[in-house]
Formats: sequence, structure tokens, C-alpha cells
Amino acid sequence: MAKGVLVDITKCIGCRSCQIACKAWHNHEAGYEGLNGTYTMPNQLSADTYTRISFVEGERNNQPTWSFVKNQCLHCQEPACASACPVGALQKTKEGPVIYDQWKCIGCRYCMIACPFHIPKYEWDTLNPWVQKCNFCADRVDAGMEPACIKACPMNVMYFDDYEKVVQEAKNRIANHPGKYINHIYGLNEAGGTSWIYISDRPFQELGFDTQVVKASYPSFTWASLSKIPWKAVGFAAALSAIAVFRNRGSRKEDV
Ligand code: SF4
Ligand code: SF4
Ligand code: SF4
Repeated sequence: MAKGVLVDITKCIGCRSCQIACKAWHNHEAGYEGLNGTYTMPNQLSADTYTRISFVEGERNNQPTWSFVKNQCLHCQEPACASACPVGALQKTKEGPVIYDQWKCIGCRYCMIACPFHIPKYEWDTLNPWVQKCNFCADRVDAGMEPACIKACPMNVMYFDDYEKVVQEAKNRIANHPGKYINHIYGLNEAGGTSWIYISDRPFQELGFDTQVVKASYPSFTWASLSKIPWKAVGFAAALSAIAVFRNRGSRKEDV
């Protein structure tokens, strides 16, 4: 049964326990970027930061308000990243997560271009770089556990269940609290639907969400746009890929 997650933005208090839990489960080091003029830390997702909380200021009744928005891969139902990958290194599993196989990856980074939410990141600062993104804690989900970030959240911001139940829960909350939520479930239709969906008390465009993202699945658009890439660029990518193939072979031998 495919799993999904409802993120209720109204419940988040910005404690960032989810960020820390994700780092801990995936054995990623904590980073420090210095002050950046905002309370959001780190400033963006990276190869070793699969999730982060955006701090978004607002105003209601002439009073300042804050919203805290969890960002990570949305695990699209028909992921553009997987469609764009020429070697099948990214795939949508029947359980819901979109997972990455580093041993198939040739380093072309088409997935990074294709993702409408700009999620996949590259390990620019290592000699043996891979693409990185939230994997929905697929190992935990396979074992019947909830993702680490959801387990750590003290406010039950995220509801993890079968995808159909998650969508129904979102609809119920909006219907039962008409003055509280805006009537929009982000991810229900965006990019053809995503396994992680959001409800909010503020318009999503105020919170940094791309509300112009198309409401159909992206793979057909992906191939349409990739076909416009100049052949010289493709040749350069192919050269990079050849290097990556040899690199991966070496890594495999060391791994055996
Ligand atoms: S959000 Fe981006 S990286 Fe995640 S599944 Fe969708 S296309 Fe892939
Ligand atoms: S689902 Fe797992 S990998 Fe994704 S943000 Fe949560 S803890 Fe990190
Ligand atoms: S752990 Fe929960 S309440 Fe704390 S920042 Fe993450 S989503 Fe928000």
C-alpha cells in the first residue's frame, strides 16, 4: 500500500527536531553557514540536508505572525526526476518513496534539471559525488516504521498513513475548520500529485511554494524540454557520464 504524508503547516512551532532527526538517521553532519539575515537555517537544502524548516514572516490583523514550513522531496506520483534519468537511478516505489540507486547513477544530473521543486542536490565538494535527496526514510517505511522526521516531531505536524487516508484527512481538516485553513491542498494536483501534501492557513505563494507548477505530471514535459538541450551540451554530459561510469566501477570494486 502506497504511503503518504500530510504536513499541517498550522501546527509547526519551528523547533527543528525533524531536521536533527533526519541528520541523525542518515548520519549527516550538522552544518553551520553563519548568519544569513533570516531565522531559516540552513538557508537551503543540500547534499547532506534532506529537510529544513523555512521561517516565513507574515502579518495578520496588524500583528506579526510566523509560519514554519517543512521542505523536503515531495515524492511525486509520477516523478520528473525519475523520468529524466537515462539509466533508471531514480524510481518511484509502490510503497511511495522515490529512491535513488547510486550504483546506477552516471552523474549527468538531468534529475536536478527536471525536478519542478529543485530538490535533488549534488555532492560538489567530494571526489566521488552522488546526487542526494530525501528518500522518505524508505528503509524505515519498509520496516513498518514512520520516517525519522515524523517520529521526532513533538507537535504531530505530519500525519503518515496510506496515501488515500492522508488525502481524506486533509479534506476533513479543511471541511471541519472552514475559518482556519485555506481551501487548497498543495500536492493534490501539483505536478500531477505528490505523496507529501500540505494544508495551510496562509496562501501557499506567501510561504514560498511554487503555485505556478503545472497541475499535470511532468514526465512528458521533461522529455519535451530535454530534447531542446543543444547536442554540444549532451556531448559534454556524455563525457562526464563516461568518467562517472569508470568512477563507479572503481567504487564497486572497493565495496566488494
Ligand atoms: S520533488 Fe523532485 S526530486 Fe522529489 S520526486 Fe518530485 S521530481 Fe523527484
Ligand atoms: S522522510 Fe526521512 S529522509 Fe525525508 S526528510 Fe524525513 S527523515 Fe529526512
Ligand atoms: S519537529 Fe515538528 S514542530 Fe518541530 S520544526 Fe519539525 S515539523 Fe515543526
